[in-house]
Amino acid sequence: MRILLTGGAGFIGSHLCDRLVEAGHSVICVDNFFTGQKKNIQHLLEKDTFELIEHDIIEPLRVEGKIDQIYNLACPASPIHYQKNPIRTVKANTIGMINVLGLAKSTGARLLQASTSEVYGDPDVHPQPETYNGNVSPLSPRACYDEGKRVAETLCMDYHREHGIEIRIARIFNTYGPRMHPDDGRVVSNFITQALADKPLTMYGEGKQTRSFCYVDDLVAGLIALMNNEKHIGPINIGNPTELTMKELAIKIVEMTESKSQVEYHPLPEADPRQRRPDISLAKKVLNWEPHIPLEEGLRKTIEYFSQL
Ligand code: NAD
Ligand code: UDP
Repeated sequence: MRILLTGGAGFIGSHLCDRLVEAGHSVICVDNFFTGQKKNIQHLLEKDTFELIEHDIIEPLRVEGKIDQIYNLACPASPIHYQKNPIRTVKANTIGMINVLGLAKSTGARLLQASTSEVYGDPDVHPQPETYNGNVSPLSPRACYDEGKRVAETLCMDYHREHGIEIRIARIFNTYGPRMHPDDGRVVSNFITQALADKPLTMYGEGKQTRSFCYVDDLVAGLIALMNNEKHIGPINIGNPTELTMKELAIKIVEMTESKSQVEYHPLPEADPRQRRPDISLAKKVLNWEPHIPLEEGLRKTIEYFSQL
């Protein structure tokens, strides 16, 4: 197949590029390198089945010929980056989403949207099933991302209903692994880089808030399974239901890195969700997918990656 990925030079996108090239597909990676890194895809550039287009999806995108599938991942994912230029984040999820849907329409491609657990906001229902409509403020500093991703889902559904575009919506929960940007600001990369340097671990709030972390290889397998499913368009939660507090995560990372780091407490960012865990019954049932890599194993691989940087 000929497959286009937007955001293909980012953390998740580059792993997806690897997997699709390995499977023998012809892959086009579209990225503006806002948070992505060339080194994530450097090893693919010499392959004739891989093409890089440096482009911002906020601008219209034209590609000649038929495209079979499009994965739309172009959007900064870490709170620090998406809040740095919130209007651009909204634009990526609205104008950018419309441009990518337009490309799907003109090329006949099926489009998978990388949506997020952030559409559930600070959830009152726990764990979160796809039927839960969320608790999101349109006014908070996270809204550029949360509401952006919500309207991106709306646009996918509207293009599907109005123009018959084939869509798939994956609601991705916190994902981690090699190739996370070390300055990305997300908790796993922060704690590991801090622990490896024996520096204080920056704990926001009291560390009682929970997240559920999925190793990137499991996540990518889930995205591919959803894209190739003939029946179910989603939304489908893709994540790992093993839930822990940020304090537990800090202790685990300090132990695994044999670090001398202590925890240093900082204010909790505004609108930081208190809890998050995916209900993945739907993914298990319709995609026959579930994560296999336990947190410790995934953290070991991630620590190894960061210790070699
Ligand atoms: P990332 O920041 O590493 O990757 C995003 C990629 O998109 C980068 O390569 C960046 O340069 C590119 N990009 C951003 N804006 C662009 C634009 N306007 N035009 C072209 N390229 C652009 O983040 P990631 O963790 O790999 O996330 C990928 C996708 O998955 C995002 O859409 C994110 O919202 C979604 N997601 C990720 C997580 C997670 O935990 N990593 C969770 C939920 C959803
Ligand atoms: N967090 C933290 N220290 C950090 C970075 C993040 O305590 O250095 C917390 C953050 O407040 C949140 C959780 O860890 O409660 C996960 O943050 P991340 O940015 O990784 O993802 P998200 O909030 O989008 O789930």
